[in-house]
Amino acid sequence: MIKSRCGINCTKCRFEECAGCVNINEPFWGRCSVKECCEAKNLSHCGECEDFPCELLMSFSYDENEGDNGKRISNCRIWKNRDMLHGKKAVIFDMDGTLIDSVGIWNTVDRLLMNKLGSDEYTENELQKLRDEKLKEYSSYASPYLKYCEYLGIITNSAMSPEDIHTLRYDIADDYLKNIICYKPYADEVLRSLKEKNYLLAIASTTKRANLEIYTYHNKNIITHAPIDKTFDVVLAREDVETIKPDGEVFVKAAEMLGVSKEECIVIEDSLVGLMAAKDARMDCAVIYDKYSDEDSHILRRDSKYYFMDHSEIISVINHGDE
Ligand code: SF4
Ligand code: SF4
Repeated sequence: MIKSRCGINCTKCRFEECAGCVNINEPFWGRCSVKECCEAKNLSHCGECEDFPCELLMSFSYDENEGDNGKRISNCRIWKNRDMLHGKKAVIFDMDGTLIDSVGIWNTVDRLLMNKLGSDEYTENELQKLRDEKLKEYSSYASPYLKYCEYLGIITNSAMSPEDIHTLRYDIADDYLKNIICYKPYADEVLRSLKEKNYLLAIASTTKRANLEIYTYHNKNIITHAPIDKTFDVVLAREDVETIKPDGEVFVKAAEMLGVSKEECIVIEDSLVGLMAAKDARMDCAVIYDKYSDEDSHILRRDSKYYFMDHSEIISVINHGDE
């Protein structure tokens, strides 16, 4: 395949008189600012650029007449990510926000919980931020979520004990966990494709074991698409480690249980805390976009080795397709 600077597959181009973007000085239609910019930066394609995807590239890709609705941008990302699985034997997934659409659901659960505790002053986004901060702060406690519930009790002046708040939180969550949560689009296909290619698969999650058991035995959406007990070789929950993310313990333990070295693992995460944990474990990390991590997206793009917008892009990497 002849690649272009902008992500177009030149081999498939209808203009046969052109030798391909990287083999010519100037396209037949005139100077190309994307090609010039990319070459001035000494990059082989825009996907290698730290400003990717810039406004200029976006304007080319989404041009009403000549654009391709983001296809070339997606191709650049796939070209950059192609070596993700080279030398790897195991793929270790985070659960919430990475494989399943659940971060928003926990935001709703916490809003309903706060309402029951007598407070309506926090938005779901503010609660997500608060939860992330507090779990990071309490990561070395025996039960960070219990400590988090204690904190919610304090800020709402609730008379309930931390234990009762904790129980109430999971009572509210029950229906969501069993009936509403499902895999993110194409995530189940990613798992099946990796399995077919004999990769070892693990879940390394901060969520508690009881939740993972609900997903495994009671959530029909998950059971029918890629059942956890038949898909994963190792499943680690909050209770399986001393210290939760951003500590890397859960990833190190997953690798040990899978019988592979750190270098043979790739971690897939969606959040800054997860990326920090993968770095702490000294493992390569691919980040998949999740709208609930939007605030950190610049850091996630900059600091992760690979970055995907969705699971369909990971499928392209698994299959080595980049058309
Ligand atoms: S639009 Fe520019 S960068 Fe893209 S293939 Fe054409 S000349 Fe190359
Ligand atoms: S992504 Fe934009 S800034 Fe980066 S090389 Fe391509 S055209 Fe230039």
